Amino acid sequence: MSNLLFDYHLHSRHSPDGSMEMDTILKRAQELGLAEICITDHIEVDNSFGDEWESNSEIVTALLADLNRMQEMSDGYVKKGVELAFPDNDPGTVEDMIKLINPKDFDYAIVSLHQYNGESTFSENYFDERDLATGAANYIRWINDRIRIFPLEYFDSVGHIDFTVKGPHGYDDPTLSLSFFEEELRELFRYLIDNGKTIEVNTSAYRALPGNKVHGLDWLTLFAQMGGEYVTIGSDAHQEKHIGYRLDDALNLIREAGIPYVASFNERVAKMHKLR
Ligand SMILES: [Zn+2]
Ligand SMILES: [Zn+2]
Repeated sequence: MSNLLFDYHLHSRHSPDGSMEMDTILKRAQELGLAEICITDHIEVDNSFGDEWESNSEIVTALLADLNRMQEMSDGYVKKGVELAFPDNDPGTVEDMIKLINPKDFDYAIVSLHQYNGESTFSENYFDERDLATGAANYIRWINDRIRIFPLEYFDSVGHIDFTVKGPHGYDDPTLSLSFFEEELRELFRYLIDNGKTIEVNTSAYRALPGNKVHGLDWLTLFAQMGGEYVTIGSDAHQEKHIGYRLDDALNLIREAGIPYVASFNERVAKMHKLR
């Protein structure tokens, strides 16, 4: 089988919660024999989680300069990505995001949500009055609400739909089941598939599960049944040890779910790689 280990979610020091040099990421990815990588630093227009999270044009310029340098140096092995946070509209707005970046500067763009109606899913209080299922369903409901005002040309995939398992929920086994949020996921998948977009399979959530567990076979099967033909995969690594993390497990899951392709991107155009 050809190498399908595409790590399409990686953070360098250009992210407020990252510290890796892009050169370190490249070196490690090549050591691991990954097929190709896409560095996807955070761009946010909201400062509700701290001023360091609010991007400005100097930050975007520095990020693009480093991405261009890496892409050239690696002969295109490094793709230029970005993880755009859904603006929560108070104080950041979609208009602020549109002013800040040109989506054509990137090969691939993830849009992702890290909060629910202004509340961080990482806050100690998020799960106070919510169980795991409600927390996960609310999160997808908020994505469904925000995504309709986010311009289609600004993203290719929706990041980490199982993000809530990474928060302080207090469950020893926070495995998510489709039954927790089927209605919400159906609405999201319909919107994405109808508009030529996809989801990513983000392996960082597996680290929150006990043992060597994975989850998502049920919702990926639903995605395939609804006509979803491809996904992207990524480790969401902020540290060297997590680069390429369990991408093979993600590929097995995707194959088992009946999704025929994993995608890589070049200048925002998807390239399909058949899973066998
Ligand atoms: Zn994220
Ligand atoms: Zn990320």
